[in-house]
Amino acid sequence: MAKRQLVPAAGGAALRLARGEHLRIIDLEGGQTGDLMAFSQDGRERLSNGRTFDYGGKIYLSTGDVLWSDRSNPMLTIVEDQVGRHDFLYSPCSLEMYRIQYGVTGYHANCHDNLLSALRELGIEPDSLPTAFNFFMNVDVLPDGHLKFAPPKCRAGDSMVLRAEMDLAIALSACPASTCNGGAPPRPLSFEIAGT
Ligand SMILES: [Zn+2]
Repeated sequence: MAKRQLVPAAGGAALRLARGEHLRIIDLEGGQTGDLMAFSQDGRERLSNGRTFDYGGKIYLSTGDVLWSDRSNPMLTIVEDQVGRHDFLYSPCSLEMYRIQYGVTGYHANCHDNLLSALRELGIEPDSLPTAFNFFMNVDVLPDGHLKFAPPKCRAGDSMVLRAEMDLAIALSACPASTCNGGAPPRPLSFEIAGT
């Protein structure tokens, strides 16, 4: 049985996936979103929401949909999804974002830093981060183009499974932004890696 590992509340985690392996991401308590960043193991290819929109033709991804790299190779396929709603538009929350949007003056835990330090653990030092796949994050695009946050649809124990289509370095972050977590304080997530 796959070992369950923790993404601490407002923290991150680093992992490697071999091609064909499956990553299950689990919302332990319900209503908690997270960020997934994927690089090829050599760090040369990065997750790309733009290429994913090119080849998938849609912004709401679920079972059967592929997450593509900036070099137009499939990185991950969603093979199971108990939640059915995720975001691939928003950048990872960052210290600057908390300062500009919320007037936070001191340090605030943020997905950008969590993802960067997890990638460093895997030997990858990107100049900048592309848009993360914001799993469980529920954002509506309104007819006039505005974006509207809604509470995540995930309940305690819900999960999704992604299959690696190449060898990958993956960073996860349990997002500390209450805006995308239905106003709730940060809670943990967990994940399991299973074979082919
Ligand atoms: Zn975040």
